[in-house]
Amino acid sequence: MKKPNKRLRLGTMIGDVVRSIFRRPITQQYPFVRTEAPPRFRGKLVYDPEKCAGCMLCVKDCPSDAIELITIDKAAKKFVMRYHADRCTYCAQCVISCRFKCLSMSSEDWELASVHKEPFEVYYGREEDVAFLLEKRPAECPEE
Ligand code: SF4
Ligand code: SF4
Repeated sequence: MKKPNKRLRLGTMIGDVVRSIFRRPITQQYPFVRTEAPPRFRGKLVYDPEKCAGCMLCVKDCPSDAIELITIDKAAKKFVMRYHADRCTYCAQCVISCRFKCLSMSSEDWELASVHKEPFEVYYGREEDVAFLLEKRPAECPEE
């Protein structure tokens, strides 16, 4: 078997080094410089309570048990969604399952790392319904 030419390899390496000196760096300076995520990026779950029918399909289909739907008033279609971002695998199954297009995944809100547990539990719903749940029904949210 023919041995590789050492001089040729050294020449290639020097060429690469010289080229890289004059090339613009491609390293992204994150988090100092923040580039936009692609539009279809799957970031934090977003819930629109106005469209929700309370069918619970999203809850049943979630493989990570990351969403709960708490009924405030079924007749008036008042629901609050408790989303556990730390359990979510960002698979978007809930988005696909929802026939009423209540759910989406944000391409802007995706920097979710935290050293505290609190930001990972998110309450979605109409403002008054979330306030009602948190203030009037402490049994529903014992952590609060
Ligand atoms: S994206 Fe996947 S893991 Fe996250 S809440 Fe939806 S179904 Fe569950
Ligand atoms: S699947 Fe859609 S309509 Fe049904 S409970 Fe979930 S968010 Fe509401």
